[in-house]
Amino acid sequence: MSKQYVRIKSIKKVTHDTLSIITEKPVGFTFKPGQATNIAIDRRGWEEEARPFTFASLPEDDFLEFVIKTYPDHDGTTDKLLDVEEGERLILSQVYGTIEYKGEGVFIAGGSGITPFLSILRDLHRKGRTGGNKLIFANRSEKDIILKGELEEILGDNFINILSEEKNDRYEHGFITRELVEKVAAGADGYYYLCGPPPMMQALEDILAGMNVGSGKIVKESF
Ligand SMILES: Cc1cc2nc3c(=O)[nH]c(=O)nc-3n(C[C@H](O)[C@H](O)[C@H](O)COP(=O)(O)OP(=O)(O)OC[C@H]3O[C@@H](n4cnc5c(N)ncnc54)[C@H](O)[C@@H]3O)c2cc1C
Repeated sequence: MSKQYVRIKSIKKVTHDTLSIITEKPVGFTFKPGQATNIAIDRRGWEEEARPFTFASLPEDDFLEFVIKTYPDHDGTTDKLLDVEEGERLILSQVYGTIEYKGEGVFIAGGSGITPFLSILRDLHRKGRTGGNKLIFANRSEKDIILKGELEEILGDNFINILSEEKNDRYEHGFITRELVEKVAAGADGYYYLCGPPPMMQALEDILAGMNVGSGKIVKESF
């Protein structure tokens, strides 16, 4: 796909370090829930600094939404996005991604790894097909949980949070363990959808191998 320039319609914080950016959608632009695109900022010196971000909006929406965790210490594109304003343009390139919905199961996300699942869960919710899908969402602390209210509304009791650096009565504490995955388990035919940073992905793949979950039942993307 050739480059597409899209103007920012709104930009706001959804957590202390995460932005929701809504842009125009080019005519005929298509993607599947779970897919991503490369995005650069249309500012001098930043046009070539494209990074991968997932569509959080749905294919039928007449806008695009991206939910982006920012890293000021990287001095990279996400830091720059913190001072980008409405009316400025982003540059989108090809659409790609390995995550797509195959059937009911357990979604396991770490931090910004929630983004491909956001589009999938919003899509299922809009179609009234959330069913028995469950989400384990791992973060450092409660303030890091992206779109907590919306995910609670979509999933109810099937939304399980685990915090590694904060203890409270409502959430699991520590890193995701085999015990937790088995407690939430997808059942014999269920899928496991994994997205997060490489160390978490490795740990989850080890846990699922130990549970004899076949690779055909695992859908994953490393962030
Ligand atoms: C398919 C895919 C889809 C994704 N979708 C999303 C999404 O929807 N939302 C989202 O929030 N994220 C998403 N990500 C992750 C996102 O792409 C990265 O967080 C983003 O590229 C970081 O860009 P950056 O320019 O801020 O920093 P980087 O490109 O990571 O780094 C810029 C520079 O910072 C330095 N640096 C790198 N790491 C560190 C570090 N740990 N400490 C200090 N300095 C460092 C390096 O010198 C590097 O050159 C996705 C990733 C993939 C693979």
